[in-house]
Amino acid sequence: MFRETVSRAILMLAMLLMLDFSLKAQNDDFETIVQTEKSAWLRNQKAQERGGLVSAVNRSDIQYCRLHWTVDPAVKYIRGTVMTVFEPYEILSSLEFDFSEALTMDSVLYHGQKLIFTRLGDVLTVEFPQNLAAQVKDSLTFYYQGIPTSTGFGSFETGIHGPDSIPVLWTLSEPYGAKEWWPCKQSLDDKIDSIDVFINHPAGYRAASNGLLVSEVTIGNTTTTHWKHQYPIAAYLICMAVTNYVEYENLAPFNGNTTTILNYVYPESVSAAMEGTAEVVAQMQLFDDLFGLYPFQEEKYGHAQFNWGGGMEHQTMTFVGSWGFELLGHELAHHWFGDKVTCGTWQDIWLNEGFATYLSGLCYEFLLPQYWQNFKQNRIDISTNEQDGSVFVPDTTSVARVFSGRLSYAKGAMVLHMLRWVCGDDAFFEGVRNYLNDPNLAYSYAKTDDLKNHLELSSGKNLNGFFADWYYGEGYPGYQISWSKKPTNEVTIKIDQTQSSPTVSFFEMPLQLKLSDGMSDTMVVLNNTSNGQSFTLQLDFSPTMLEFDPNLWIVSRNNFVQELTSTGEPVPKYDLTIMPNPTHGKAHYQLRIDAGSEIEVHLINAEGRLIKQDQSFALPGVNKMLLDVHDVPAGWYQLQITGKDFQIAKKIMVQ
Ligand SMILES: [Zn+2]
Repeated sequence: MFRETVSRAILMLAMLLMLDFSLKAQNDDFETIVQTEKSAWLRNQKAQERGGLVSAVNRSDIQYCRLHWTVDPAVKYIRGTVMTVFEPYEILSSLEFDFSEALTMDSVLYHGQKLIFTRLGDVLTVEFPQNLAAQVKDSLTFYYQGIPTSTGFGSFETGIHGPDSIPVLWTLSEPYGAKEWWPCKQSLDDKIDSIDVFINHPAGYRAASNGLLVSEVTIGNTTTTHWKHQYPIAAYLICMAVTNYVEYENLAPFNGNTTTILNYVYPESVSAAMEGTAEVVAQMQLFDDLFGLYPFQEEKYGHAQFNWGGGMEHQTMTFVGSWGFELLGHELAHHWFGDKVTCGTWQDIWLNEGFATYLSGLCYEFLLPQYWQNFKQNRIDISTNEQDGSVFVPDTTSVARVFSGRLSYAKGAMVLHMLRWVCGDDAFFEGVRNYLNDPNLAYSYAKTDDLKNHLELSSGKNLNGFFADWYYGEGYPGYQISWSKKPTNEVTIKIDQTQSSPTVSFFEMPLQLKLSDGMSDTMVVLNNTSNGQSFTLQLDFSPTMLEFDPNLWIVSRNNFVQELTSTGEPVPKYDLTIMPNPTHGKAHYQLRIDAGSEIEVHLINAEGRLIKQDQSFALPGVNKMLLDVHDVPAGWYQLQITGKDFQIAKKIMVQ
């Protein structure tokens, strides 16, 4: 999933089930109710400990669902019939399903017989007339209707689009919203092996869903659209969208074959969509090469437009609100990371979102390399915007925390990039492919340790320390690097590190440094394992500049590089002169720097107050710039210039 606007209100989910003994006790045996509710409450406590919200317990294997929905995009309402085939793991007298209390369950049929069911919050429990044997396939059918509550990012929504205000209806269940519109088991421990989806909707519209389109049959004013999906699927990835879609296809070739990309688009958006989805072909071929063939090859890939500002990776039918390169790459990437291999708890969401974000970056690296450096810098900046927070999600009751753009997306992506740096390209991509193809994980669920184990196997490295620092630990390092050279071209580099969060005592990392003299340069990698560590190198030229992490492998901030003379004095690398000084009206300042840098210019008065500020870009060498002070009162000021890894200040007298 990818949200394009962070300002959208995020609905927080209710954490605790409210118990109401008195109301129900009027009709039933009080003791039984208390017992039932107590055990349900305990189970729900356990569900929370597992990292989920209040939810049904995993006591059976859901093997198949036939989902029959009747909707009209002009009306926020659903009528549904859901046939569920399941196999109990244990002897069962009852079975729980996740199902919103806002909906009405008309009846539950079991072998032609109506079952008794009870409801407690969003958990519906059916009671079987006799015990069900373990490991014996069985089925039941739910008949329900109502106005769905919309939770999370809008689990069941209606809207309008286009100049004619055509109604549209869509779903987006991640993370906890499937139960808002159908009875399911939405814990992350069981995928449904296959589904059939039948959508009854007004004729003239098309309905989008998972898998292959089987038929569209119109009788009178109603069309029934049938989709069939025969890959294992998590409940939150099942989807439906209905409106007056226009359809077109793109074809992605692979090994002499093609994958169809089926697009359901608003009529007014066709040209924008066509421009965007055409680029998905190259993205799919890139992911095929790097991570193995598109995992739902036997069926299709697709896009269906909806009114949400972002995208959602519904299995084989991504919903998108726009057609940008990065958004489409992100959602496609989820089909390997999120759909084929799904995070096993919401604490592990970075296995979905970190990977999808990183793969949208790989689309730049391999397809539009001019944007790759900027992508990395941007993700580092976002990751280090605040000093704390882990990629690991400690609190899954907050949807906003699970889907933190800073931690699960940006830092998650950069943690993968750092794993690639630490393991090396070959071991990283091999380990990730092995993770995707692991028979215990493929078309199932994975946890962070599964990825770690595969990368340890492929790289031969112990990654305990890495994961302790970068996944469970919080924050980022800042590097203070001082270096000096001898006439013999021997260079000494001393590296100090600070940590933004006390949860990490030291980030042990290989560091890439570039030494250059304007003519020659050399790249070195130093294995930084302790604070104040010194390294001595013999070069065949006399460097004038040292650049820290020029390829942006590491999440870091506030880095500082300084050259020292043989006596330990800082070599001035940045020089600022102001002319004339004193001045009135206008002055010029000259900034001499070694490397081009964004600069922040501050004029500060004698009391330390910021009087003027400006942002600019300074080129390597001497930059001459205008300083307009005609509108500031006479007195002493400080002109302060802050660049990528320097800060320099000079006093100026305004008369
Ligand atoms: Zn995503």
